[in-house]
Amino acid sequence: MNTHQIKIYLAGPRGFCAGVDRAILMVEEALKKYGNPVYVRHEIVHNKYVVEDLKEKGAIFIDELNEIKDLSRPVIFSAHGVPKSVPDEAKNLNLLYFDATCPLVSKIHREVENFEKQNLPIILIGHHNHPEVIGTMGQIKSSIHLVENEKDVELLKLDKNKKIAYVTQTTLSVDETKEIIKAIKKKFNDVIEPRKNDICYATTNRQEAVKKIASNCEVFLVIGAYNSSNSIRLVEVAKKYGAGKSILLENIEQFDEKIFKNINSIGLTASASAPEILVQKFIELLKKKFDIELIQDDFIKEDVNFKIPQKLKEAI
Ligand code: SF4
Repeated sequence: MNTHQIKIYLAGPRGFCAGVDRAILMVEEALKKYGNPVYVRHEIVHNKYVVEDLKEKGAIFIDELNEIKDLSRPVIFSAHGVPKSVPDEAKNLNLLYFDATCPLVSKIHREVENFEKQNLPIILIGHHNHPEVIGTMGQIKSSIHLVENEKDVELLKLDKNKKIAYVTQTTLSVDETKEIIKAIKKKFNDVIEPRKNDICYATTNRQEAVKKIASNCEVFLVIGAYNSSNSIRLVEVAKKYGAGKSILLENIEQFDEKIFKNINSIGLTASASAPEILVQKFIELLKKKFDIELIQDDFIKEDVNFKIPQKLKEAI
């Protein structure tokens, strides 16, 4: 019998968002329709479990389209979005391609196009080299000014009296982004904002759910991936909102039991690209070693669904 008691505060909502669900479904449907292999440009979502599962089903992951060996096979672009040069290249190669860009990322693509039409200098709040940022910057010919923090805003060499516009990456820290927007508004006199917040509903809700329970937790565990922006933000939010320690768990089987020494309360969540099955498997692993009490409450119910694109729907 396990005598070490641990309360698990399970954040809700957590795990897969509507954009990730749709992207994975698109690969699965393409595999059903066209058989193996189906190429996928970039990790369809930032999660090794998902990627390995799709590889087993017949997906081949590539970084660039020129790695495709058999041009007769379909290719899918990841949920993070791609620069316009990618579909252009696919057309040139005569490839059958499907775009799994999340509709909430596509919304930002349309925003930067509109701002460009209005000749506005555009600031993008986001992380250097993140695929979503590369995709957004590649929507227009004009250059976009990328800022990661308030210091970058200070360094911007743009006319303070000229109208400027900004957009953000979808998976940023809600709190930090507010501060960066404040710095933009302080520096520039006429700032045009996105019509609706660019940080998506899933990022916002997952961070909010962690904020609500973090201070109850001696250790907070985030199931996610090191290259996943929204996973890393959740780790930061847990720490900032009172968890004694917060840790990103990429491989649930390799967790270090020492973490739980003298610990009676942990928080647990999963990033928008981590499947619920990993959360449940991890809880089962803990049950074998500890006397677990599970405390869970979704602070908001999500009912967002994105349909797969018409082009793939017609094909299947
Ligand atoms: S995290 Fe947000 S923007 Fe990214 S795929 Fe999910 S819903 Fe879309």
